[in-house]
Amino acid sequence: MQIESKCIHEGYTPQSGEPCALPIAQSTTFRYTSAEDVAALFDLTKEGFFYTRLGNPTVDALEKKIASLEGGVGALCTSSGQAALFTAIATICKAGDHIVASSSIYGGSFNLMGTSLKRFGIEVTFVDQTLPNEELAKAFRPNTRLVMGETLANPALTVLDIERFAALAHEHKVPLLVDNTFATPALCRPFDFGADIIVHSTTKFMDGHAIQLGGVVVDSGNFDWTSGLFPEFTEPDPSYHGLVYSEAFGKMAFIVKARVQVMRDYGCCQTAQGAFYTDLGLQTLPLRMERHSANALACAKFLESHPKVERVCYPGLASNSEHAKAQKYLPKGCSGVISFVLKGGRTAGAAFIDHVKLVTVEVHVADIRTCTLHPASSTHRQLSDAQLADCGIEPGLIRLSVGLEHIDDIIADLTQALEHA
Ligand SMILES: *Cc1c(COP(=O)(O)O)cnc(C)c1O
Repeated sequence: MQIESKCIHEGYTPQSGEPCALPIAQSTTFRYTSAEDVAALFDLTKEGFFYTRLGNPTVDALEKKIASLEGGVGALCTSSGQAALFTAIATICKAGDHIVASSSIYGGSFNLMGTSLKRFGIEVTFVDQTLPNEELAKAFRPNTRLVMGETLANPALTVLDIERFAALAHEHKVPLLVDNTFATPALCRPFDFGADIIVHSTTKFMDGHAIQLGGVVVDSGNFDWTSGLFPEFTEPDPSYHGLVYSEAFGKMAFIVKARVQVMRDYGCCQTAQGAFYTDLGLQTLPLRMERHSANALACAKFLESHPKVERVCYPGLASNSEHAKAQKYLPKGCSGVISFVLKGGRTAGAAFIDHVKLVTVEVHVADIRTCTLHPASSTHRQLSDAQLADCGIEPGLIRLSVGLEHIDDIIADLTQALEHA
C-alpha cells in the first residue's frame, strides 16, 4: 500500500460486524482463564495484553500503523516526544556511555541530553552537523554508543544529511537515531537512508490538531547489536530469568527491550484514548503535510519579497543554505514551519504579534491553525539583545507554523499585521 492508504487502513482491520473506527480499549487490565496463559505472557513466550503500561490494543494498533509508515519492524508509543527520546536512549545507553548529537536539535532534547542525562552518567558531545567527516570523527570516543540528529530541526530548520551520518555512525559500529517529528514519514523516511532508530513527538504533525501529547520510538530492525559493544543485548537480563534479547527476538531485539525493560521500569506510556486521537490525526497526515508544505512555501516566498522582512528561513526556498539537502531528503515538501526576521527588531516583532487576527499566537507548532511566536517578547523576554544573540535568536525573529487555512486568507492577515511592524 502507498502511504495514503496505510494511514487509513494499517494497524486495525475490523472483522465482520466489528466497528469501522478503532475501538478504545479503556481498560488497564485483561482477563485470562488459565495460570499457564498468564505464565507464558510473563515469560515473553506468548504475545498478548496483560497490563496497559506494557501494551494495550488501541495503542498497539497505532504502533503497528506508525511502524508500517516508517518501514520499521516495530514501534513503541510513549506519553510524549520527550519520553520517546529518553526511552530510546535508555534502551541503548547506560552510565559510562557517550553520545554524539547534532547541536541543531529541539531545545527540550538539548536539555535532556546535555543536562539531565549527565545525572545518569551518560555524556553527550554536541557537534555542528555541517562539519566534514574528519572533524565529526573527532567527537567519537571508545565509549560512544549512539549518534543522534533531527531530519528537519526544530526550530533551526536545518536538514540532516542522514546518509552521511548513518555511514559515520556505522563506521563506529553504533546506531543512528533520527528525530523525524517535523518531516513525518509523509515527507521523509529516514530508514530508507540508513537510520536505525526513529523517534517522533506525535504531538506535532502526526496528531496535527493540537489535542494530544505523545511520542513514538520506531525500530528499523537493521542494526547489529551483537558486535560486543552492546552487552545488554547479548548477555542475560536478570530481570527476565536470564533472557538474551538478541537471541530471543533477533531483528526485534531493540523494540522488545524498549518495551519489556525500559517501559516496564520507567512507565511513560501512551493511553488508549490518547492513541485513538493520534490515530485519528494520522489518517489524514499525507494530505495535511502536502498542504502545510505548499502553504508554507507560498508564505516564505511572500515574506522574502516583503520590504519589512530582512531574511526568511525555509529550506524550500532556493536561497536557503539547506535547499540542496532538502531536495534530496524532502522532495515532497519542507513541512509547515518557517522563521523570518523583521528589520525593525524587537519592537516590530511585538507589534506584528499584537496585530495578527486569523493567525493565532501560540507556544506550539504543527497545528492545523496558522500560529506564530516572537521569542524576544515571549519565551525569551528576560534576555537582553546581546544575550539573545548568544542563543542565536535575533530580536526581530518570528516563528510561523503555517496551517491549513486558505493561503489567500493567511497572506492577507500577514500583510495587514506587517503594516504595523
Ligand atoms: C516537540 C518536540 C519534541 C518534544 O515532544 P513533546 O511531545 O512536546 O514532549 C521533541 N522533538 C522535536 C523535534 C519536537 O518538535
